[in-house]
Amino acid sequence: MGVNVDCLTMQQAVEKIDFLIKNKTPSIVATANAEMLMFANADAELKNILNGAAMVTADGAGTVWAARYLGYDMPERVAGVDLVTNLISKGYKIYFFGAAEGVAELAAENVKKKFGANIVGTRNGFFTPEEIPKIIDDINASNADILLAALGVPKQEKFLAANLSKLKIPVNIGVGGTLDVLAGKVKRAPRWMQRAKLEWLFRALLQPSRAGRLLALPKFVYKVVSNR
Ligand code: UDP
Repeated sequence: MGVNVDCLTMQQAVEKIDFLIKNKTPSIVATANAEMLMFANADAELKNILNGAAMVTADGAGTVWAARYLGYDMPERVAGVDLVTNLISKGYKIYFFGAAEGVAELAAENVKKKFGANIVGTRNGFFTPEEIPKIIDDINASNADILLAALGVPKQEKFLAANLSKLKIPVNIGVGGTLDVLAGKVKRAPRWMQRAKLEWLFRALLQPSRAGRLLALPKFVYKVVSNR
């Protein structure tokens, strides 16, 4: 479908981020689920951003299935929320940018308590274009190793790409609803559902407003099958 996704284990993905942080050149990391790949299929700007990213992980059972179906050696799912949890517990300096008012702060409090995380700044994800320079200044002043942009797809990827030249943060990751999960506002599927590759169903049941987004899945399967 024209989008490059990295065939990496979680450990390899974390090692790559480690390398990018040491390298210091600001770069974008994306976590691609089926819905994002469908967006990219219809949005050339998003597709270009993903193909120019330093790493695109297979976030979601659909992406892993598609890669394997197309004959690639995709080792496992590298979900954004799991990747973030791994990075947080490694003690990196992280900036939480996104979600509704107060959510980033709550998420920061939770991960500080739970993992002793080093959260160096927070900002909600609702802003006017005029506020962007101040947001970038705040993020840069935090001296973070990692910026988590939780603005939803494709807003977060487009924000990061448009501002990458001004951002001084080595690793910039679009993480969708991850701050809502870390803040305890949205529950993650139980382990058995994650293992049964049914996390997408859990999210749809919990947030019925998302149910319409499920339509992307059969369309994705159809596209992958017809592309092979
Ligand atoms: N969001 C934001 N700014 C916006 C639009 C959305 O910060 O202008 C946030 C929203 O509050 C939510 C996240 O972006 O926390 C998107 O979550 P969703 O679960 O839709 O993302 P997904 O993980 O499915 O990409």
